[in-house]
Amino acid sequence: MEGLSKVLEKALDILETRIICPSCLGRQFALLGHGVANFSRGLTILDFIVLSAHTTYMEGEKEEDREKALKILYAAFKSGSKLAGTTLEKIIGKEGDLYQKFEKDYGEVCWLCEGLFSRLESLALKVVKEGKKVEFETFLIGCVVNPLLIEREDCLRAEYGLVWGESLKSELNREVGKIVSKLAGKGVDFNRPDVVFLMDLVSDVVEVKASSIFVYSRYRKLKVGVPQAPWFCKNCKGVGCDECGGSGRRYETSIAELICEPAQELAKGVGWKFHAAGREDVDALMLGSGRPFVIEVKNPKIRSVDLKLLQEKISEGGRGIIEVDSFRFSDKEEVRRLKEASSMAQKTYRTIVKLENEAIEENLKVLEEQFSGVNVSQRTPTRVLHRRTDIERIKKVFSLKARKIDRFHVELLITTQGGTYVKELISGDEGRTKPSVAEVLGIKAECLELSVVSVE
Ligand SMILES: [Zn+2]
Ligand SMILES: [Zn+2]
Repeated sequence: MEGLSKVLEKALDILETRIICPSCLGRQFALLGHGVANFSRGLTILDFIVLSAHTTYMEGEKEEDREKALKILYAAFKSGSKLAGTTLEKIIGKEGDLYQKFEKDYGEVCWLCEGLFSRLESLALKVVKEGKKVEFETFLIGCVVNPLLIEREDCLRAEYGLVWGESLKSELNREVGKIVSKLAGKGVDFNRPDVVFLMDLVSDVVEVKASSIFVYSRYRKLKVGVPQAPWFCKNCKGVGCDECGGSGRRYETSIAELICEPAQELAKGVGWKFHAAGREDVDALMLGSGRPFVIEVKNPKIRSVDLKLLQEKISEGGRGIIEVDSFRFSDKEEVRRLKEASSMAQKTYRTIVKLENEAIEENLKVLEEQFSGVNVSQRTPTRVLHRRTDIERIKKVFSLKARKIDRFHVELLITTQGGTYVKELISGDEGRTKPSVAEVLGIKAECLELSVVSVE
């Protein structure tokens, strides 16, 4: 059996100059034999070495071979083989103090991991203790280890041509994970764990990071004058100055804050993100069936948030500005779909438009015809040019319905593709949007009121 002698020879060579714990020894041969932990694999190899060394000790003809066999037995014993220990006990009487003889050649702990793999249980206990601070069902373990250990392992593999090993880190993570799983009654999940524990073995701390939770609903905005995202003072960029009365803000609050802050509070999270299917302007309402959105709460301590309570808290704090439907749990994929869908979605806006001259009924009919299923070219609006790149977008206007209110005012119901700049569609933005309501009517037109009445 060439394979057997290959494994044993390499292991023997390693033990000649080092103590190596069963985990570290077994790990060098991790790809050989399936279904056992490296620790057991390492013990088996050690025990074979004991048998082999004991044979040499009893039958070896040269004194130096018998001496070497004893040394190997000692190393195997110090590495963790019980068989070596009991074997040595029998021999020791005859051989005097082996310890004095060999201990100068070896250290006291595993040369490779310095005893790390004998502390798995206490590492796991530390993780479990940290885990009590957060709610989770599934977890994953990661670690930071002293780079010196990794380097040692690399050197060992190069020196002895060991090609069947796995990495120290992956064994450590897995073995601690098994114990944590048992102690805490939770499952390991490699793809989407609720929490990740990071064992930093250099600074001796365990950090826990919970993955974000996501909840979905729809909102209606019932009052104008509130932006969707927080809007900070342009002058001081949020620090606070005379212009903004020290608040650092252009608008006191936002839809995102009114919705996300209660969620963060209930989930005891650290930070949030508001993902909505599109946006409306500060001075536009969002009515009808509401706009779909997902709240992401980062690093939450509580995952099983009471969604009914969340809805209540949002309407309490919403001050009549917003209203939300009931919530359900969601995920990252839905956020992605939401963003994709929002540029495709059809949105219907109700606008009140002020005209420079009196509108003639006939012209309104022309307007409706012109904007039935037409592509509109829009350059980035002048009003947002300072913060957005100047590019051209093509957006579809599906339909437009016009109704005269009085001499100079008309109501327009416009259904467009998501992301259309509606105010510019009306005013033409000095020719940057083509065609526009103003252009078709041949007079100046200004959007006075804008609300979203439906999002598909
Ligand atoms: Zn070790
Ligand atoms: Zn300011």
